[in-house]
Amino acid sequence: MKTKIINIGKIITWNPESNSLDVFCNKEILVENNIIVGIENSFNEDCNVIDAKQCILTPGFIDSHTHPIFIGNRSNEFQMRLNGNSYEDIKNAGGGILSSIKSLRDASFDELYEYSLNNIKPFISSGTTTLEAKSGYGLSVKDEIKSLQVIKKINDELLIDIIPTFLGAHAVPEEYKTDDYVDIICKEMIPQIAEEKLAIFCDVFCEDGYFDLDQSRKILETAKKYDLLPRIHADEFKCFGASELASEVGALSADHLMVINDRGIKALSQSDTVATILPGTTFFLNKDKYANGRRLIDNGCYVALASDFNPGTCTLRSLSNIMYLAMQHCGLTIEESFLGVTFNAAKSLKKEHSIGLIRNKYNADFIFWDIKELSEIPYWFDSSYTKINKIMKNGEIL
Ligand SMILES: [Zn+2]
Repeated sequence: MKTKIINIGKIITWNPESNSLDVFCNKEILVENNIIVGIENSFNEDCNVIDAKQCILTPGFIDSHTHPIFIGNRSNEFQMRLNGNSYEDIKNAGGGILSSIKSLRDASFDELYEYSLNNIKPFISSGTTTLEAKSGYGLSVKDEIKSLQVIKKINDELLIDIIPTFLGAHAVPEEYKTDDYVDIICKEMIPQIAEEKLAIFCDVFCEDGYFDLDQSRKILETAKKYDLLPRIHADEFKCFGASELASEVGALSADHLMVINDRGIKALSQSDTVATILPGTTFFLNKDKYANGRRLIDNGCYVALASDFNPGTCTLRSLSNIMYLAMQHCGLTIEESFLGVTFNAAKSLKKEHSIGLIRNKYNADFIFWDIKELSEIPYWFDSSYTKINKIMKNGEIL
């Protein structure tokens, strides 16, 4: 079945060859099944017709870093932080990541599925058509597998694509010493998850007090042996070589990077590892040190933007809002922000040959924006979703 999209205001897409934006006026798009098969002045095909009503078409947005598989919320911690309580105070009161772990372990599969589905649905109305989703609040063989099976079921249920990441190395559960838990990850979790094909990626929270360089390397090298692709949480709190490790193990992405140093930037710029910045977290925690996206780009890194949606440190889901924060606080231009939520985000998911651009042979993933200029996407901040006329994913209107 073919569909042509007519009466398009402008098509706006990144062009990786010229490294700049392409803006096409007076073009129509022909879609066959889920794929773009033509972009021409007009098509004489006798097929379904969608009138774009002069909307701007962009690729569907890609959120390459989210933690949506949880149950309950941690709004009490938000209040505690405002009252001056430290991270340690919150942890001592039974809060922080450990409270999310307890809730997830206590939940049945169906309860976790229902809650996580409702965590994910609002991404769609903000224009996200591909979502990376991490496990990481189970931290036992059974509960990590439960989390990944929930992702699989939600992916089957929704029309957007959800790409699963195993993040057993999110924290060390209270019942284990770190090295013993690393052994469980490497000897039990990774082999079983790979066997059941429940994840594409394996991620590690490589931070002081969580997983050090040697432990992170061991987990990611084991993952690679089982064909899980590495990605890494790096240089968020303390800089000790996590970005260099990302490039050493061939990670698809190194994420956060608020405190990355020159050596880390050099390592990322000389590799294919995408530098993913998450300004929503810095904003939500009201911290002053945003990742310096400008410096990363000026030194030749590929920079993607993602939401980092999670119950503790960031509840933002709108990538339009994340673009705004990246422009306001990380030194990115509108074009670089747009690149960060489209093509570079696709690259960080190893999907740059099928999503993130509007061109022949790419997935028919489009946002129809009722706007005149690209800059309106971040500009309308809390209401940018009201400027979305419709969304197409894999050739279907959502
Ligand atoms: Zn994260």
